[in-house]
Amino acid sequence: MRKKFWLVQTAAVLLALAVICPVLLSRTAEAQSRITSPEKFFGFKLGSDRHIARWDRIVEYYKLLEKEGGGKIKVVNMGPTTMGNPFLLATISSPNNMAKLERLRGVNLKISDPRGLTEQEIAKLIGEGRAVICQSMSLHATEIGGTQMAPELAYDLLSRKDEETERILDNVVFLLVPSFNPDGAIMVADWYQKTLGTEYEGASLPWLYHKYTGHDNNRDAFQTNMIESQYMAKILFTDWIPQAYLDHHHMGSYGARIYVPPYAEPIRPYADPLVWREMSWYGAHIAYKEEEAGLSGVINMAQYSGWGHFGFHWITPFHNIAGMLTESASAKLATPLYIHPDQLRGGGRGLPAYEVQTTFPDPWPGGWWKLRDIVERQKVSAWALLDLAARNKETVLWNAYLKAKRQAERGAQGKPAAYVIPAAQHDPLTAVKLVNKLLVQGIEIRQAPKGFTIADGMVYPAGSYVISLAQPKMGLIRHLVGRTFYPDNDWTRAKDGSPMRPYDMATDTMAEFMGVRVDPIDDAVKGDLPKLTGPVPAVGKVVPGKFGYAFDGRLNDSFKAANLLLDKGLAIRRVDKAGDGLKAGDFLVGPGSEALLAEAARQTGVDFAALESAVKDGNHEVKRLRLGMYQRYSGGNMDEGWTRWLLEQFGFPYATVMDAEIKKGSLNAKFDVIILPDDTTAMITGERAGASGGERGRPLESTPPEYRSGIGNEGVEALKAFVGKGGTLVTLGQACGFAIEKLGLSVRNAMANISSKEFWCPGSTLRAKFDNANPLAYGMPAEGVVVYLSGNPAFEIMPTEHNEWYETIVTYADRDLLQSGWLIGEETLAKKAGMVAAKYGEGRAVLIGFRTQHRAQTHGTFKLLFNALIR
Ligand SMILES: [Zn+2]
Repeated sequence: MRKKFWLVQTAAVLLALAVICPVLLSRTAEAQSRITSPEKFFGFKLGSDRHIARWDRIVEYYKLLEKEGGGKIKVVNMGPTTMGNPFLLATISSPNNMAKLERLRGVNLKISDPRGLTEQEIAKLIGEGRAVICQSMSLHATEIGGTQMAPELAYDLLSRKDEETERILDNVVFLLVPSFNPDGAIMVADWYQKTLGTEYEGASLPWLYHKYTGHDNNRDAFQTNMIESQYMAKILFTDWIPQAYLDHHHMGSYGARIYVPPYAEPIRPYADPLVWREMSWYGAHIAYKEEEAGLSGVINMAQYSGWGHFGFHWITPFHNIAGMLTESASAKLATPLYIHPDQLRGGGRGLPAYEVQTTFPDPWPGGWWKLRDIVERQKVSAWALLDLAARNKETVLWNAYLKAKRQAERGAQGKPAAYVIPAAQHDPLTAVKLVNKLLVQGIEIRQAPKGFTIADGMVYPAGSYVISLAQPKMGLIRHLVGRTFYPDNDWTRAKDGSPMRPYDMATDTMAEFMGVRVDPIDDAVKGDLPKLTGPVPAVGKVVPGKFGYAFDGRLNDSFKAANLLLDKGLAIRRVDKAGDGLKAGDFLVGPGSEALLAEAARQTGVDFAALESAVKDGNHEVKRLRLGMYQRYSGGNMDEGWTRWLLEQFGFPYATVMDAEIKKGSLNAKFDVIILPDDTTAMITGERAGASGGERGRPLESTPPEYRSGIGNEGVEALKAFVGKGGTLVTLGQACGFAIEKLGLSVRNAMANISSKEFWCPGSTLRAKFDNANPLAYGMPAEGVVVYLSGNPAFEIMPTEHNEWYETIVTYADRDLLQSGWLIGEETLAKKAGMVAAKYGEGRAVLIGFRTQHRAQTHGTFKLLFNALIR
């Protein structure tokens, strides 16, 4: 009895305390939930000056939250990253929702593809479903705010007991990706630690913050070459299809403090209009919440145009997901940056001057800018998105239904009605890769079990793939496999008429990049075509024969097969003279190693066809060449990283070669071929003081001396000697300028010193001709497209005593160059050479001006590089 009385009395006291002291109550609740705060766990408040939490500790913290979180958080390791670190997905919702997460996921997928469901069924699903919101952190690893902010966000969601938090947990399934790039997070934390307290504190990382891609990891959402992209694609495109996705970034230091949605003009066509309105809706709430919190310097509807590259936040609108980003002004990593008021600048899209305007009502006045300022603004943004979705759960889900339904209806009514990927292709194995990449996007693809004829009489063979546009991802399909044209209007031209650079490429037409034929057709294909339910396997076969085997030189994967067989010590030959059913560029291998061929066929999908008789002449032995891949510091070179990755995918052994080794000379003793990736001459030589390849345009002086890059005059002389004595120098993109200048080639860059008004091609696909009788273009079709960026060279061979020393491998078409993207002044580029080879001493230079292996996406022109790497 007494005990009960005591309890009642205590409860009364607590209640009284709660009324007079809400702070105490929340403290009590916190203590009861026993959730360790980030400050306690890490030993500092996240975002504090000169402190960065390292990824391994962050992983431990999320695991601890899972243990302490009372069933509100599930932490899944999606698998290892490129360098073997855990890639986490933390799902946060109410315990009730978490207990039926799989059911909620199923409901969400039905709402996202409502074909075949009645409106009543949808209404029921919406009642049952929860808004699904995904946010990811620090894709760009030097943009550390997100990764440092998110543990606090998770902690607040798990520990706060107020109505707003409860509403979020009850109505939202929050998919939190604590770091999009854990490898980079570790590199940056360790680098920062190393420079801390030195004169280089806060300096930029001298190398790529991802093993292969660096900043370009945000250009990989449609090709999903990297494992991290594959994990994100699984979360966003197939497992969940959330209603909104917010990706947290940093930008330069001297403008607004944080950019929040929506995007500026121009936008890409073919998305459901509602998705653009949703981004304005979310963005307004986010911006409003920032102002409510008294945080200055917030801008929206500016700077980042809606037609960006197909990174994750820009591709998601075409998955009917409100795909958005925040961009915070950068400090010097965790070191504060002082900014004078007169250093603050406007300019660019939507902020002509650093002055008040509707979308920027409270300019930040200048002063110290700290990581904690970034963390706070990002946390408000992240929370605001969850808050709005929670308050409007039914609307959010209804919109998801509407977008999906309308897009499928538009696709059913419009023209083209479908795209066909014919089974007969120049490189059928690459066509299979395209199909599998489209499946990763969650696009529905059907395969014809038998041949079919369409209205205009075109016949397609059995095995052809059909992509109907009558599906929710209609807009995405049009961008990836149809032609697209970047707008040329007042949004894309400056006042003086000069074109404004798009945010990235002017097109991301994956099929064109890959050299795969895809036909738009005006009528739906009739009949019962089975849907692909998983990746299409590519398994080659060996047809036994006593005279040996041929494998097709038109297949990119034949290079991989050749490399696998060379690894095993087999002799490989290459056909130079067509005949007897063989084409120039086909590979030959003798009989007797059928088990090895079968293994190569299994790994590559390449078929080994039996020769009908012994092939004697018209071919040569393939010699494996020793490759050197040039790498520099100054932030690293993304083109180098992609090229390195590509070499690994196709089995080309290589060694990375850096400045010191080049300068040492005697390069012929180690290498037969040296590749210079896309780079300016100044960056290769290091001759221009202050040249910066690092992010944010920081001056070279901010980099520790041992990471200031450049081969110098000694390096130039060593490379000249290397080529003179028989080496091959392969130069990509702008690095061709280095070869022309330093080797004194009789080649002129026809695109130098031309204004952007006269010529402009910001990442487009252009039609070109390939001299496939030349060994450097073996296996190429006679015509196709190449990817070209403004700034890439195109060549004219100048008259010389030895014109025979020069060969043109690729020539731009005579007219109608543009396949997709944006092109001004095509006559400047028409008929010019895109790729030339030049004899120099005993060796040669191979100059590839366009983007032959652009981000490992341009499969259609990989062979031009591969051919230069074997002999
Ligand atoms: Zn970024």
